[in-house]
Amino acid sequence: MLRLTEIKLPLNHDEKALTAAILSKLQINAEQLHSFTVFKRGFDARKKTDIQLIYTLDLEVENEAQLLATFASDQHVKPSPDTSYKFVARAPAELAERPIVIGLGPCGLFAGLLLAQMGFKPIILERGKEVRERTKDTFGFWRGKALNPESNVQYGEGGAGTFSDGKLYSQVKDPKHYGRKVMSEFVAAGAPEEIMYVSKPHIGTFKLVAMVEKMRAKIIELGGEIRFSSKVEKLHIDNGQLTGLTLASGEQLHSKHVVLAVGHSARDTFQMLYDQGVHIEAKPFSIGFRIEHEQSMIDECRFGPNAGNPILGAADYKLVHHCSNNRTVYSFCMCPGGTVVAAASEPGRVVTNGMSQYSRHERNANSAIVVGIDPERDYPGHPLAGIALQRQLEEQAFKVGGESYHAPAQLIGDFLKGRASAGLGEVKPSYTPGITLTDLTQVLPDFAIAAIREAIPAFDRQIKGFAKADGLLTGVETRTSSPICIKRGSDYQSINVRGLYPAGEGAGYAGGILSAGIDGIKVAEALALAMLDADSAT
Ligand code: FAD
Repeated sequence: MLRLTEIKLPLNHDEKALTAAILSKLQINAEQLHSFTVFKRGFDARKKTDIQLIYTLDLEVENEAQLLATFASDQHVKPSPDTSYKFVARAPAELAERPIVIGLGPCGLFAGLLLAQMGFKPIILERGKEVRERTKDTFGFWRGKALNPESNVQYGEGGAGTFSDGKLYSQVKDPKHYGRKVMSEFVAAGAPEEIMYVSKPHIGTFKLVAMVEKMRAKIIELGGEIRFSSKVEKLHIDNGQLTGLTLASGEQLHSKHVVLAVGHSARDTFQMLYDQGVHIEAKPFSIGFRIEHEQSMIDECRFGPNAGNPILGAADYKLVHHCSNNRTVYSFCMCPGGTVVAAASEPGRVVTNGMSQYSRHERNANSAIVVGIDPERDYPGHPLAGIALQRQLEEQAFKVGGESYHAPAQLIGDFLKGRASAGLGEVKPSYTPGITLTDLTQVLPDFAIAAIREAIPAFDRQIKGFAKADGLLTGVETRTSSPICIKRGSDYQSINVRGLYPAGEGAGYAGGILSAGIDGIKVAEALALAMLDADSAT
């Protein structure tokens, strides 16, 4: 197959234009072009009145070798790389032991799926409930019912990204095309085909829920086992070698091969790991607020007269500002046409995040606007000090919000002028169970408030209206990434506990659904190869 890149066509081009562009680029006739597929489709919206679609195409053509020779010096005409996934191992018919995966978020899901596909029949332990039960608990909390600390936005089947925008892109280097494996498994589980080729794919909450169920069924069909309400409370470590674990129920399981994919919110589990001597280091993360504007304003600013075009969908943005106080403020986890959600997993604490449905049809755009912080400057002295800081900020937000899980909020105009808000404008808050209008300077450190105050007007220069007075800030955003890193070596095992494979976002090796899935694949491969080695040594 032959790959063509950078084929540019106007946004509203007709169907035949793509074929015509291929023929014209390669100087061939229609008979020589047997077929083609779109590998990627992005767009360039820098000129709003002339938005261009940019295609990467894979072609079956006559005389491929000859064409490649003719275009040898053209970097946009090359052989298509093989992006298909190849398993690295196959389990023996008689397994000496079964690997265990702790956590059924995207990382644990893909680690478990890959191990099952290779024949290793993993046991997957998830502290939360299966996804439908979990949905009831989570949506119940958003409607004002009590928070269930074991079944919420962070915990349960599907992990933290289940009730999300389902953005599926990442900046991780992926030379082995593991991301394609993640995407193709998602499509097999019911995700829209377009996620394979659009440049910024997303799935949305309800589709994710159904997909997670299908992937669970596949793992079970392949001999895997999934246990819900199974919180791991203790590891068995014998002379630096993991030998098994104990569940909250008291049950003990034995395995020398355990994937630890517990996400960034498993604070009690991090404490347990630290107490048991697993090597943990503090790492940087970010703190801030969710910002809400009307989506129509963002669409208009990004796409001008093409706002609302279904190919473009709801517009997103990505913003960065380096502040005079040496801090960096940036937008994170932007959710076009979505809602701000209550993302708490611990009683007496308030934390925000964002989600949307596949349609992205809600009235507001939301995004985290956060300030980077690091252990050296902001929480020195202890590997878990970042968690203590998160808890302190989330507790303060709970207090200022009125101790009812309402989130403290402030109009942008009031925030910039340094006065408490008393009433809403055009932008209606989407956060449930509700907001408490207040003065947000009470909930973040002074340096963070100063940095965000400086950044918002700077962002307004890129997106006109970003600083509009009745836009809304809701807080606090504290879980942009893990505050710790559970160090692992090049064999993917903990640097001081053999057989323990720290993985995914919680361990500091991923940030988002796609990269967590990719890390799950990498770790499953390393674990499978290590199990085969151990097997052949006995
Ligand atoms: P997690 O998904 O956190 O999964 C860890 C799992 O481990 C959990 O299910 C937890 O219950 C379980 N667990 C924890 N401790 C134990 C224990 N002791 N025993 C047993 N089980 C345990 N990312 C994107 O890429 N795109 C988005 O649009 C997006 N939106 C988001 C919206 C929201 C509301 C949230 C909260 C997150 C969002 N993210 C998004 C981030 C994304 O969800 C995470 O990066 C991703 O889920 C991390 O995957 P993971 O498998 O490493 O961890």
